[in-house]
Amino acid sequence: MRLHDQTTSLPASEMGEWSNMAVIDENGVRRRLKIMLGTDKLAEEYIARYGYRIDVTKIQGMRTAEKTVDFSVDSETSADDPIYTIFLKCPSCYMTRLPSHELKAKSLQILTDRFGMPTYRDMGRYKAVDYNLLSVTVCPQCLYASPDRKDFITRDPARAREIPSRLHQGELAAILAGADDRANWLTDQGMDPMKDFLPRRRSVQAGLASYELAIERAKIEFARNVPFSMFKMAGYSLKQAMICRTYEKEEKQYLTQALKYYLACFERSNAPGFQYEGQVLYLVIALGLRLGQTETAGSYIGVLDRSKMRMESGVADANVQQAFTRWYNAAREIWADRENPDLWKLRSS
Ligand SMILES: [Zn+2]
Repeated sequence: MRLHDQTTSLPASEMGEWSNMAVIDENGVRRRLKIMLGTDKLAEEYIARYGYRIDVTKIQGMRTAEKTVDFSVDSETSADDPIYTIFLKCPSCYMTRLPSHELKAKSLQILTDRFGMPTYRDMGRYKAVDYNLLSVTVCPQCLYASPDRKDFITRDPARAREIPSRLHQGELAAILAGADDRANWLTDQGMDPMKDFLPRRRSVQAGLASYELAIERAKIEFARNVPFSMFKMAGYSLKQAMICRTYEKEEKQYLTQALKYYLACFERSNAPGFQYEGQVLYLVIALGLRLGQTETAGSYIGVLDRSKMRMESGVADANVQQAFTRWYNAAREIWADRENPDLWKLRSS
């Protein structure tokens, strides 16, 4: 697959907003169109009608006309809806108008578990929505996914210009190169990138899959030694565990995966700085206890003590020391409290 930016050959007058936009190669576009439209026939019809520039509105138009699905996404929201929608641009394939669902401030009550994962309850004024299902924005074209707006190309309204993604070109090219693998995986799950990820409602399966795609993105970052990539993978696994708990599905596989990722994060120093070291060790200890691996948890209490000594003999600044100490105390507390049957209950944050 060619991954170089390739400008369109339209005359300058017709380029308009497309002028600074790179597109992927024709075979790639054909494959993506098939992913989004569902059939070869519709993909060819699209190319005949609009050429090789993918436009989400035109795809939605064709699918609505074919009655395959209705997924109109509006930025407007009803008064009791705690969610509003903004639109982002994919930094990997440059798809525009990706709906990103955001939670209105102070609209829902947030409870957290011992791993810091939120769950949402209504407080009367707004209807209850499980924001964990909606928090990851997914590009339906290349299946680039992240819960962090800074990972996408956004618009700075004050200066009428684009704010680039946090990710670098090398990572973005590698992520785009994996688009077919992600599309095949999604098809195997019986899912549809447009129908399952764009609307303001997501199924539990789509919520779990959106975090799986975010893990795939972070995995590629980790392969390129990007700091915090493994740390994020662990956090995404914890979100998947929370989704399972909310819907009374088995969460153990996701907690096990989170523990594996936090251990790798610690061993590879993927989250540098003592405050993150403290947080990662706390999470390793908490997950060890949650999974009944008391010995693992106990051995990491020892690691945490040595970490504390290292920090105290070093030159960490006061804020870092304070943050570390908070995690240290939390780890000591959960370890001392490990027999308490109420240990895993949700708490208001
Ligand atoms: Zn994309």
